[in-house]
Amino acid sequence: MQLQGKVALVTGAASGIGKEIADALAAAGAAVAIADINLAAAQAVAEDLKLKGCQAMAVDFDVTDEAAVEQGTQRVVDTFGSVDILVSNAGIQVVNPIDQFAYADWKRVMAIHVDGAFLTTKAALKHMYKDDRGGIVIYTGSVHSHLASPLKAAYVTAKHGLLGLARVLAKEGAPHNVRSHVVCPGFVRTPLVEKQIPEQAEELGISEDEVIKKVMLGNTVDGEFTTLQDVAQTVLFLSTFPTAAFTGQSFVVSHGWYMH
Ligand code: NAD
Repeated sequence: MQLQGKVALVTGAASGIGKEIADALAAAGAAVAIADINLAAAQAVAEDLKLKGCQAMAVDFDVTDEAAVEQGTQRVVDTFGSVDILVSNAGIQVVNPIDQFAYADWKRVMAIHVDGAFLTTKAALKHMYKDDRGGIVIYTGSVHSHLASPLKAAYVTAKHGLLGLARVLAKEGAPHNVRSHVVCPGFVRTPLVEKQIPEQAEELGISEDEVIKKVMLGNTVDGEFTTLQDVAQTVLFLSTFPTAAFTGQSFVVSHGWYMH
């Protein structure tokens, strides 16, 4: 119970990676806010955690809506007393070549990943900076924070951008005991990835099996998907690490796909 007495707010926690991160932080003793645009699913995750004896609440939260982010974060503070850990994780994917990429899709991807990271960080810092109590902000980046793939211009640009935000926050936050990180998974079989398999097969003119074996896992050392647990355990490790020895870092969790 290394996180007993701590409060974590996880965005996009109603599904996939965010849900697993919320489970891991709750199992370690944190009170967890399940913040998602899909309130019904967030409520189901929070209820499930409560049945397991954890402290949890659902928050209706569109990360691109400044007022909703401010109010949702305040509700978490009013209920649990603070925000010690922010995991800015909500995300979407749109695949298309640049010359056919709709500007509206570009703006939506950038808004959810980059604006959402900024807005949730700003809202959480208000509480973390109070009396320099501090905290940890973890962004879900991607191997695509470091590498490019065809068809993913907006996503790759957004995920690279998170490195910059985390690095600035590491410097600005240090005097207030705030640390930041970007956790960068390889492909994890969540709804976000399941959707891409047929889309990429069609765009690239190859079979779905080839998308998985060549495009998604071809550069790993073991041909394995990154698991939800791989990512959640990394977030837990960073959330419980006691000093600022690590801050402003990128942790790549990708079965060797990208090494740096
Ligand atoms: P997912 O689709 O399973 O879950 C994403 C969640 O975000 C959903 O619950 C959705 O409702 C929520 N969401 C979407 N838009 C939102 C908004 N505007 N405000 C609040 N919540 C919103 O996806 P996932 O695979 O778990 O992805 C989570 C994060 O991990 C994303 O940032 C994604 O880019 C990143 N990531 C995923 C993979 C992968 O292979 N799955 C790899 C690297 C990085």
